[in-house]
Amino acid sequence: MPLPMVDAVVIGAGAGGPIVAHELVRAGWRVVLLERGKWNTPWDCLKDDLRNQRNPNLGNPFGPEDEGNPRVIVGMDGKVSVVAPYEGGYNNNAACVGGGTLSYGAMAWRFQPTDFRMASKYGVPEGSTLADWPISYDDLEPYYEKAEWELGVSGDVSNDPFKGPRKKALPMPPVSPQGREFEILDKAARKLGLHPFHIPMLRNSVPYNGRPACMRCRWCVGFACEVDAKNGTQNTVLPVALKTGLLELRTECMTREIMVDEHGRASGVRYFDREGHTWEQPARVVIVSGGAIESARLLLNSATKTFPNGLGNRYDWVGRNLQGHTYTGAWGLFDEIVYDDIGPGATVAISDFNHGNPGMRGGGALCNEFIRLPYQFVGARPPEVPRWGQAYKDWVRQAYRRTISVMGPTQEMPVFDSRIQLDPQVRDKYGIPVARISGPKHPHTLEISNLQAKHAEDWLKAAGATKTWLKLSGQGTSGGQHQAGTCRMGNDAQTSVVDANCRVHDLENVYVVDASVNVTNGGFNPVLTIMANAYRVGEKIAQAHARARG
Ligand SMILES: Cc1cc2nc3c(=O)[nH]c(=O)nc-3n(C[C@H](O)[C@H](O)[C@H](O)COP(=O)(O)OP(=O)(O)OC[C@H]3O[C@@H](n4cnc5c(N)ncnc54)[C@H](O)[C@@H]3O)c2cc1C
Repeated sequence: MPLPMVDAVVIGAGAGGPIVAHELVRAGWRVVLLERGKWNTPWDCLKDDLRNQRNPNLGNPFGPEDEGNPRVIVGMDGKVSVVAPYEGGYNNNAACVGGGTLSYGAMAWRFQPTDFRMASKYGVPEGSTLADWPISYDDLEPYYEKAEWELGVSGDVSNDPFKGPRKKALPMPPVSPQGREFEILDKAARKLGLHPFHIPMLRNSVPYNGRPACMRCRWCVGFACEVDAKNGTQNTVLPVALKTGLLELRTECMTREIMVDEHGRASGVRYFDREGHTWEQPARVVIVSGGAIESARLLLNSATKTFPNGLGNRYDWVGRNLQGHTYTGAWGLFDEIVYDDIGPGATVAISDFNHGNPGMRGGGALCNEFIRLPYQFVGARPPEVPRWGQAYKDWVRQAYRRTISVMGPTQEMPVFDSRIQLDPQVRDKYGIPVARISGPKHPHTLEISNLQAKHAEDWLKAAGATKTWLKLSGQGTSGGQHQAGTCRMGNDAQTSVVDANCRVHDLENVYVVDASVNVTNGGFNPVLTIMANAYRVGEKIAQAHARARG
């Protein structure tokens, strides 16, 4: 059923989509934003340790729903499995208004300038598709600042000598007091000649934008914030854009495909509403912001006679180069109590090892971990401690408040065969072919990440840990909550999916604006880069299509 024409339709209300929508509304556009998930409140989360976005054993409160949303995963041994959202290997982020930003940990990193030119800096390792971004840190710098100030970031990065140039400090100081782990690790890092600083966070440390400061509770990463002190798109740009009356948000609406006319231009999208009815939303410009797995899936599911392999897929690059972050680190046991058990937990970072690791291409940041719920402590055991029984209970009693974990996201070397395809058989509840995830990590990724674990261990030893043990990486498919890279940005249409302004090469009015376009994923959590790029591209789209809009 066709609906009235709008200037733009945006698919996905996660980190990227609402920011583009906000920028277009700012330029006077009429925009429809389609989100397949619900608009939740913190009360939908109910502080359930076993049912949250970090531990979905009993389901994901912030989507997608357990039933009717499978994916297919091809293991390293070639075994093909159909997995539900709460099962390992699904690589879920979230499906709701705010996407991952409703329940995230909220670390708000800028990538470093070198992260945008990894191939020039290091050369391309065999078996990798490592490349430079077509844009630089300087191109993104004003938009990083905009994201930090419009959404609200706390922290203090002034002691980080490796950061890119910045014009303004962060709008809010770090949450205070920082706590015991900060004191201990800050001192130890300085002793080692490293440069510790306060982690930037999309979290209010003081009242900001009409919402209160963080109350330091336990239910932080993986949960929606009970007092709304965590800054996602759902409580910042989205309400502002909706207030103008130019944006319409339609929730529980699953986009089936992008429609393309006989001239090879997108004419709008076809979607299912919550009752399963099919609608056609005509639009002059279509913006895909479904996250790295679902955006690739949508482009592939939009194949037409003119584009038989899917949109933007003339050279078979859609869905390729799936990346995430390989997390490694170490645990340290201390003689005294070191763990405060107050949120958000993560406070202190170093970025000394994001580059400059001899013989390695890149590296990553290292930080103390987010606050841990008791169930998570099972993952913190040294290898000799069993998972259950009296010995495990004794270990928890002895060690729960005497351990610190330091972990970090290693920048992965992109691999062409790490990819999203459409599964030839499995379909979701709407009958749409689902994503099939396959391909290995590059061996060099594992080398770098295991070196990072050693760096973490050295830091903990310098802090006084009497016993340490490592979390090393293993081979497996990439993606995870930091999924990125599947619609690569580039100047050459034969080796990328979108151009430097994130327009799909073959189509004059289709854009991808989310983590999919990241050429590489930095040695830092990616969300602030996704947001900054969304601000940048929103502005470009408004300029490029101003005349067409009339
Ligand atoms: C528990 C957790 C902790 C995290 N912590 C951090 C952190 O500390 N720092 C950090 O940088 N990152 C963190 N992340 C990751 C971060 O949230 C993601 O990198 C980011 O949200 C990705 O943004 P995106 O726009 O690419 O996709 P998303 O945020 O995933 O948004 C995509 C949206 O599109 C919707 N969608 C998809 N397909 C369709 C369709 N066909 N039709 C309609 N709607 C569709 C989805 O439902 C979703 O809401 C965390 C994530 C989680 C879940």
